[in-house]
Amino acid sequence: MTAAGSIPETAAGGILHVDLDALASNWRTLRDNASGAETAAVVKANAYGIGIEQAVPALAGAGCRTFFVAHLSEAIRVRSAAPGAAIYVLNGLFSGTGPTYAEFDLRPVLGSFEEIEEWAGFCRAQRRNLKAAIHVDTGMNRLGLTVPQGLTLRDRTELKDFETTLLMSHFVSAEESGNPLNGQQIEAFEAVRSSLPGIPASLPNSSGIFLADRPGYDLVRPGYALYGGNPTPDRVNPMKPVVGLEARIVQLRWVEADHTVGYNGRWLALARRRIATLSVGYADGFPRAASARGKSGDELLAGMTLVAGRPCPFAGNVSMDLITVDVTDVPENEIRRGDTVTLIGGDLTVDEVGRRAGTIGYEILTGLGSRYARAYHGGQG
Ligand SMILES: *Cc1c(COP(=O)(O)O)cnc(C)c1O
Repeated sequence: MTAAGSIPETAAGGILHVDLDALASNWRTLRDNASGAETAAVVKANAYGIGIEQAVPALAGAGCRTFFVAHLSEAIRVRSAAPGAAIYVLNGLFSGTGPTYAEFDLRPVLGSFEEIEEWAGFCRAQRRNLKAAIHVDTGMNRLGLTVPQGLTLRDRTELKDFETTLLMSHFVSAEESGNPLNGQQIEAFEAVRSSLPGIPASLPNSSGIFLADRPGYDLVRPGYALYGGNPTPDRVNPMKPVVGLEARIVQLRWVEADHTVGYNGRWLALARRRIATLSVGYADGFPRAASARGKSGDELLAGMTLVAGRPCPFAGNVSMDLITVDVTDVPENEIRRGDTVTLIGGDLTVDEVGRRAGTIGYEILTGLGSRYARAYHGGQG
């Protein structure tokens, strides 16, 4: 199935494959590791790049009933895709947006006393006990009440004006299983949680689910692992890959010795090399930081492709719309103009692609471009 509005694969420079069955399977794997807690799904940033309209029905079909997004606009899209779900907006309550929350039955994640006061005032004016989450910051210093503020929550009269359906905090580095900050955050959150008995609590993200000594609590909030990212970087990835990316070869050419490839001449052919030019670039969200600056044959921490099953390195700077790859090692008759090569897939996992671009797989996923033909596999539809 190709997404509505998506261009045909034959006309696309890149073809993005999304395996919705793997997405559903990953959700079930996370649920089985959640110690009985409800397993929500974080679908912010267009479901980490794969598409809210496709991801949400697949996750709901697997049994997911609670979704988190960053923006109100994303929440409205989730509401269309999952009419009965609980939907939380992580980035807080913006002034004057109460009526939109009420209209679409959405829940703000309140992270300051100002937001709590505004939501309580809105609920009083509406004479409705609307639902919201409260976020307590236990170390990120980004969003949420401080722990001392959290410990005063039980004395705040505003809490009677709305229904607090979740008390949550967020790990700073749960993917580092040995980081002492994890235990410190659990302890700080536990202090606030135990002062507010009866309110469901939520702490773990993807990696947090796999921490050995975390408390179970009532709800877990995985994002990255749903989409195939490894939540346990020091161990084998327990998740299935969800995303594959192919790029089309526009041209194949020979570059003579002592000639350079790409903008600013940052890659030098020491001998005659064969170059494949791919119709994907940084405007498609493939990072320019994956550029290969050096000489042919260098082992560079830079982008890599699989061409007819063989690893072939990037050559030169990634352009806006094109990537150049050294395919000299592939027998000449095995590839031709119009063939596709793999940018994400096989050993080129989203984590590995991120590492080769000096970033994390999260940024690779959420940057997935709008010019790809999107092919969805499996799922309900
Ligand atoms: C993004 C986010 C998550 C999901 O984190 P992953 O590492 O992708 O699993 C959970 N909770 C909050 C508050 C977030 O912002």
